[in-house]
Amino acid sequence: MRIILLSSFIIMISMTPGCKQNEQHAAAPSALEAKIERFAPTVITGDTSRFSQGDRNALRKLIHAAGIMDQLYFRQSWSGNQAMKDRLEKDTTPGGQERYRYFMINMGPWSRLDTNEPFIEGAPAKPPRANFYPDTMSKEEFESWVAKLPEAEKKKATGFFYTIRRDAQGKLKSVPYSEEYRDLLEPAANVLREAAALTTTPTLQEYLTKRADAFLTNEYYDSDVAWMNLDSPIDVTIGPYEVYMDELFNYKAAFEAFITLRDDEETAKLSMFSAHLQEIENNLPIEKRFRNPKLGALAPIRVVDEIAVGGEARAGVQTAAYNLPNDERVTQAFGNKRVMLKNVQEAKFHKILVPIAALLLDSAQQAAIAFEPFFTHILAHELMHGLGPHTITVNGTQTTARQAMRELSSAFEEAKADISGLFALQFLIDRNILPTTMERQMYSTFLAGVFRSVRFGINDAHGRGMVFQFNYLTDEGAFTANEAQGTFAVDYAKIKEAVRKLTGDIMTIQAEGSYDKAKAMLDKYAVIRPPMQRALDRLAALPVDIAPSFPLAP
Ligand code: ZN
Repeated sequence: MRIILLSSFIIMISMTPGCKQNEQHAAAPSALEAKIERFAPTVITGDTSRFSQGDRNALRKLIHAAGIMDQLYFRQSWSGNQAMKDRLEKDTTPGGQERYRYFMINMGPWSRLDTNEPFIEGAPAKPPRANFYPDTMSKEEFESWVAKLPEAEKKKATGFFYTIRRDAQGKLKSVPYSEEYRDLLEPAANVLREAAALTTTPTLQEYLTKRADAFLTNEYYDSDVAWMNLDSPIDVTIGPYEVYMDELFNYKAAFEAFITLRDDEETAKLSMFSAHLQEIENNLPIEKRFRNPKLGALAPIRVVDEIAVGGEARAGVQTAAYNLPNDERVTQAFGNKRVMLKNVQEAKFHKILVPIAALLLDSAQQAAIAFEPFFTHILAHELMHGLGPHTITVNGTQTTARQAMRELSSAFEEAKADISGLFALQFLIDRNILPTTMERQMYSTFLAGVFRSVRFGINDAHGRGMVFQFNYLTDEGAFTANEAQGTFAVDYAKIKEAVRKLTGDIMTIQAEGSYDKAKAMLDKYAVIRPPMQRALDRLAALPVDIAPSFPLAP
């Protein structure tokens, strides 16, 4: 699963009103320019100077392999995609280059921020079946075919790594990716093996070798397990992963690659945090009986800097973090791993959050906006998901907070992770484990971040959880609004107690498994009130995301 910086995946209403109709018939260059400007150009790179020559050579190979994922992705998304890309690339007129640029931002002729409207003449509507199934196949035909298959064949037909094609008689059949894409997977496997021979890190050698095998055998399990164990200065995720492009069934995985460098400083910070988690749990502002006297093992988290991407990872709004693998056989045995792309988050922070703060934050608190507390809070958010009430007892029966809270559970859990993340950081600041300079920074940066999350609506759990916290903290007097200026500020004298109180309220409701109390709270607080709506309206002209360039992967 991918995370686009803690905010919803963006289905945005077009920001260029009046330009929406008939864009499939060649948008005027100026309209296209406005669409492109929503993506702020950004250099994304990392420092490879500490690496041995062997590792640097391995990186070059991996960047090459990421390029092959681009070709695979083009072929998977639509049968005409690669040819259209080649045609657009050759058009050197200014309009042509603009079209090519926007095509590459979207990795196809459909504008992702505009509900996938086509923006290149001759492009069809985005096919929901992508190129995973025959163009002539209906959902019903697939379902009735699958229903009659023996179990093993059924698994292939609905599996991640098989396309569906027609045989000579026109009947449906499953084709393994290793066959369907052999002309590209063979060279990709060779390049991964070459990289494995160049690097000196054993867990990386193992992952690359096993993934190369998987490309040719179509058996991905062993390489997914090797990926879970990967702990290397060069961190790589490459292969077929996410299933969003298969809008018909979400069965088929699209190829992508993230080539990254481990961030050793943040990795050390994570270990520091982990060492204090039980102490934080023991001091949560809830009744003692609701606390967990012995926390379980945590899912691994890696903090990395991205230096190249390929395939689906290149398309549209840039991934800021991801949880993989998706194969349940692996996750049931080994859990999953979360990878956080620190330099991508930093770029989004500077290009989007800082401009939001400049417009909406009280001028006296502008100087408190900083990336360090922003990112530290994201780490705390992730860790705090593991703390607080999970397994609970309601009327003598054991259940989970998630089950008891039903459809409200995600928004509640996301709000919990945010607010208790602040609580945890304050706890560490009060014990001089984190610097006191972080205190005001983290609260003001959090306030600015609320607007970024709520900007794209409150239909998803993160946005809904954010507006809930914002209104609660406002009613406690911890956030104040200056109506004349249209700005907001943190009341530093009140915020600590308000954070403590909200953490306690949310976790107590989770511990009690009280759906009714959760509903009453969300009904009251998870709504956009007029001052926030006016603030959001002022953000319309700001960039929505970044358009990365990768100097190490030209
Ligand atoms: Zn979360």
